[in-house]
Amino acid sequence: MSILRKKGLAIATAVYWFLLLYIVAVLVWWFIALQQQNRQMTDYKLAELSVRDPGYAEKLQNINREQQLKATRNIGEGASFLLVIIIGAVLVYRIVRRQFRISQQQQNFIMAVTHELKTPIAITKLNLETLQKHKLDAGKQQKLLSTTLEETERLNTLTSNILISFQLDGGRYRIAREDLDLSALTATCVQQFSHRFPDRAWKVSIEEDVAVNGDPLLLQILINNLLENAIKYSPKGSPVAFRLAAAAGSAELAIADRGPGIPEGEKKRIFERFYRMGDELTRKTKGTGLGLYLCRKIARDHHATIHVLDGEGGGSRFVVNFRR
Ligand code: ADP
Repeated sequence: MSILRKKGLAIATAVYWFLLLYIVAVLVWWFIALQQQNRQMTDYKLAELSVRDPGYAEKLQNINREQQLKATRNIGEGASFLLVIIIGAVLVYRIVRRQFRISQQQQNFIMAVTHELKTPIAITKLNLETLQKHKLDAGKQQKLLSTTLEETERLNTLTSNILISFQLDGGRYRIAREDLDLSALTATCVQQFSHRFPDRAWKVSIEEDVAVNGDPLLLQILINNLLENAIKYSPKGSPVAFRLAAAAGSAELAIADRGPGIPEGEKKRIFERFYRMGDELTRKTKGTGLGLYLCRKIARDHHATIHVLDGEGGGSRFVVNFRR
């Protein structure tokens, strides 16, 4: 958070608390004034009353009852005002904080996207220039080409994520409803990843002929994002497990890694738009916070659920459950 924004937030919070305290103080003052007025009126009426008056006892009782009644009414009105003020204040506080968080996350997203777009373009340009200027041996050429391909792959994932998520949010994407062979679709995704990351121990178990109804492009994005995260958030060389199985009336897809896992308190939040775990300054991984948001959106559009569990040997396990 920039210092200017922090200062702005501190000023807004101070003004908010000042106004709230001021309103409550005015309310308390109003209550005390009313009570005093009530007491004065009672004193005045009592002064007017004479002991020799024939109905003295009854009149005295009436005056006291009236005072009690007024006091109760003042307390009731005061309490309802206070309640309304407190509810309003809590609502405003929550809405403002939420808006602030969203705008903060949007800013982070724009910064991340700019960075994420620039890096692969710069690397690709440099690699291509190197290939053009220098006569490299075949091995080095291959290495440069594969890192270039890797970068363009990242660029491709990033742009599809951004485009599709904005199209889905804006209702401008027409979701296909095809009968699909989920086994074949997942096998292709996993194959591409195992080809890109051969240093990983891939534990793949894909049951054949698992069918779902849906959009092949969206489902591919869902699977690729989960695979991408499994690779991105776990140490090089660590195993990645992929499993697709049909269960009674449903199909279950699970991707497990041996990364740091997701703390309990973050398990829901990671699916929020632009949400990324940790702090801007300490975070080492690249990303935009759109991947899992998109996964959840796609899952919901396919009447599926997505959640994350702790992996058996550490790490995390993302599970997508399709109802068929
Ligand atoms: P991005 O990866 O671009 O930050 P995502 O929406 O894909 O955005 O993920 C949101 C956050 O969830 C990530 O920033 C990361 O902190 C956490 N996360 C996602 N997948 C994993 C994983 N497999 N292991 C650990 N943390 C993860």
